[in-house]
Amino acid sequence: METEQTSSLQPVQRQLRQLRWLLTSYRLSGLQHWPRGVPIKEPCGVDIAVEDPATRLAALCQEIGDCRRCRLHQSRTNLVFGDGSAAARLLFVGEAPGYDEDRQGLPFVGRAGQLLDKMIQAMGMRRLDVYICNVVKCRPPQNRNPDADEVAACSPFLFRQIEAIQPVVICLLGTYAAQTLLETNSSISQLRGKQRYWRGIPVVATFHPAYLLRNPAQKAASWSDLIKVMELINKVRGAYDQ
Ligand code: SF4
Repeated sequence: METEQTSSLQPVQRQLRQLRWLLTSYRLSGLQHWPRGVPIKEPCGVDIAVEDPATRLAALCQEIGDCRRCRLHQSRTNLVFGDGSAAARLLFVGEAPGYDEDRQGLPFVGRAGQLLDKMIQAMGMRRLDVYICNVVKCRPPQNRNPDADEVAACSPFLFRQIEAIQPVVICLLGTYAAQTLLETNSSISQLRGKQRYWRGIPVVATFHPAYLLRNPAQKAASWSDLIKVMELINKVRGAYDQ
């Protein structure tokens, strides 16, 4: 039974857990020493004790509101912010909402989303264990690729979502997600499967599920990328449990 004392300890335990995950991910990204006198802050510059991920995500969602920062707002039915657990260890980032996502206001709910669900299950997780979002939050007309100015307008929201959640690993689905976070023009074929970092967080890029539906022969390559993702999660979990 939850007592007043255990309930008051929960925020402290959550903050300690966050701090430990953050330090572990810094260590795994090669940081050996923390300079004296430098306060430990999250990448967004917020003191780690200030707010939990769910509160920060909710505040960000409220801030986006009825966003009209780029032309994509003109053709959308719903803005698709993101879906999943604010405490997720694994964050998936796709390109943009499609027809079904625009109608429902949720990411990855069409055929590509069903394939992503199967990929998540094959990794031994449930959709509600992870967090899923896109680089741009509104559907481009006729599912065209997002323009550079649209990505520039919307990607700061993505960056702040990541900073709010502080996942252990980010899995980038497809060209636009990989090029945006990794700041490169290289193709997804060149970027996939290699471990990189975004602000200290390990990142693995793989093919977008919509591409896999059109090119099922690439599913094996994508699965090898997801194995890397699972290895990274287990590596951090092992370091955390020491
Ligand atoms: Fe705003 Fe992003 Fe939608 Fe553009 S795509 S209107 S920046 S939420």
